Amino acid sequence: MVNNKALSPIKQQIIDGDIDWTFTKEWLNSNDQDALCSAKLFKQQGNRIKKCNFIYPTIDIQQCNYPRLYPLGSIPCIECANARDDNMHVGLCREHSNQIKNILTRAAHDLQELIMKNTKDKNFTVKDIIKTTPLFDISFVDALPQSHPGYLLIHHLVPSDLTKIFNIYINDKKLRFSLFSKFFSTLMSSIDTLIWIRRASLIKQWENTLSITKNKKRFYRK
Ligand SMILES: [Zn+2]
Repeated sequence: MVNNKALSPIKQQIIDGDIDWTFTKEWLNSNDQDALCSAKLFKQQGNRIKKCNFIYPTIDIQQCNYPRLYPLGSIPCIECANARDDNMHVGLCREHSNQIKNILTRAAHDLQELIMKNTKDKNFTVKDIIKTTPLFDISFVDALPQSHPGYLLIHHLVPSDLTKIFNIYINDKKLRFSLFSKFFSTLMSSIDTLIWIRRASLIKQWENTLSITKNKKRFYRK
């Protein structure tokens, strides 16, 4: 896995064991109830797998697939124009950092409530633990650092930081799993909406100005 070139943006995190692979696998295979057994489910799971493998069709990948439709040369990020528009840049874009801070603040708050409601540990140390967990550290200025566990989250990978908290406070395995799944799916849906989908709609607008349409892609001949 570490030798996979596409995964080089998270190479260090893989080596350091920052990713909980068991829960990541569960997340990639899980489904929303309304998407059960449908094309929607297939697409949803496919998108997650592309995001965590850094092969989601960002502009650089589209440019390779449809070279005659896109401008030549390196195409900058639609939002900040400061880096190439590729998978690695998603989350690191400084235009994403306010959204990421909001998402993490809200997640920390929701997690604290969820744990306090469900733990048998009545010492309520959870608040302090969350406060000192690197995942919920929003003191970064400008863009999200690549080494921040939140970067994993943006790419649909479960940070060990997060499952550690569930492991400490929820002893019952079945309950832990179901609480985690519900919490994580809400969190990821806000990441998809505020980062990925927002980004995709900006790219679509930009493509429209260049007359790059879905139909042209569908009937593209290499
Ligand atoms: Zn950017």
